[in-house]
Amino acid sequence: MEITKNAQHYIDLEEKYGAHNYHPLPVVLARGKGAFVWDVDGKKYFDFLSAYSAVNQGHCHPKIIKALTDQAETLCLTSRAFYNDCLGPYEEFIHNYFGYDKMLPMNSGAEAVETGVKLGRRWGYEVKGIPDGEALVIICEGNFHGRTISIVSMSNDPSAYRHYGPYTPGFVRIPYNDVPALQKVLEEQGDRVAAMLVEPIQGEAGVYVPDDGYLKSCYDLCKKHNVLFIADEIQTGIARTGKMLACDHENIRPDIVLLGKAISGGVLPVSVVLADDEIMMTIRPGEHGSTYGGFPLAAKVAVAALTVVKEEKMTERAEELGKIFREEMRKCDSPFIELVRGKGLLNAVVIKPHNGKEAWDVCLKMAENGLIAKPTHQHIIRFAPPLCITEEELREAIEIIKKSLSALE
Ligand SMILES: *Cc1c(COP(=O)(O)O)cnc(C)c1O
Repeated sequence: MEITKNAQHYIDLEEKYGAHNYHPLPVVLARGKGAFVWDVDGKKYFDFLSAYSAVNQGHCHPKIIKALTDQAETLCLTSRAFYNDCLGPYEEFIHNYFGYDKMLPMNSGAEAVETGVKLGRRWGYEVKGIPDGEALVIICEGNFHGRTISIVSMSNDPSAYRHYGPYTPGFVRIPYNDVPALQKVLEEQGDRVAAMLVEPIQGEAGVYVPDDGYLKSCYDLCKKHNVLFIADEIQTGIARTGKMLACDHENIRPDIVLLGKAISGGVLPVSVVLADDEIMMTIRPGEHGSTYGGFPLAAKVAVAALTVVKEEKMTERAEELGKIFREEMRKCDSPFIELVRGKGLLNAVVIKPHNGKEAWDVCLKMAENGLIAKPTHQHIIRFAPPLCITEEELREAIEIIKKSLSALE
């Protein structure tokens, strides 16, 4: 793929002045609208990453941007030292939207996870009666919950945790999609377990979809042992998998739900934690917070972004278009395709290296042909377009993917 002098300029600046904590595809984006982005040379691409499912509503959605600009001219940040006229209505809106007694607003996804773990432990001590300092939280192999020290303490991926220790204790790791493993931990140590934290589909690990019934079985075991079930829906939530929450596929209502990414439609870092009073009220004034958490701008943007999801029937669109995507990709006769998996519009293709070409080369070829996606873990490509994509656009994108695969054969 050719990198223009213009694009190279921006790449060089990042290389020289930015920390090297990412390895981006060599595409320099300058503009976005709906399911498309344009680079600094005006070339148009289908966006098939959607900023890791933050841009479910599409780039620069006019209703979300209007909410942003209107509020930006009025009042942006008050801190929580005072009340403001945006947070309460936002909290009520979230209550009506997701059906939990209360919400706690934060900014990044990692902060929502930290908050969820704090709430789980707090509930464990104050409601369940676990002796102070002994609470355990069960997590799964292959998890990705963010980048803080406590969160990387849960990870079994060396690139996430290596040389960041000492690590936070109190996590018990079990294999993903393994109900007997959970049962064993709960039977042996259930008295000390406050919560299980799980991704309904492991996104960063490569869109690993667990067996049907797995989440329900975990939930039921947690209930049996008086353990909270915490769903990290930061990537899977908000219509991405063809339901509002991925847990809705199994009709379970987690005790704590963590949301981020698409809750602002890719406009601001906004996250929330949802729980009922028995859990949420264990944190009292002064015991947790964030300067920006739930700030007026975020409140208005999140309400607009979630309204768009329902108005534009994004849940239904994700469900229908996802079926078309998987069906078409499975029909595709390419030596590169080992496996196609996913739910709704959160999908992955496992790439079998061929002719010395692997997932990275496929992504470069697709970019050349006008579609951007990113490999995760060497051989997996995630395909997750904005949920505003039309069927016609999706079929056009599938043709680009097929054309790129055959060009590398
Ligand atoms: C992206 C992600 C996070 C972390 O969100 P940040 O906003 O990057 O901190 C946590 N959990 C899951 C499942 C994610 O996909």
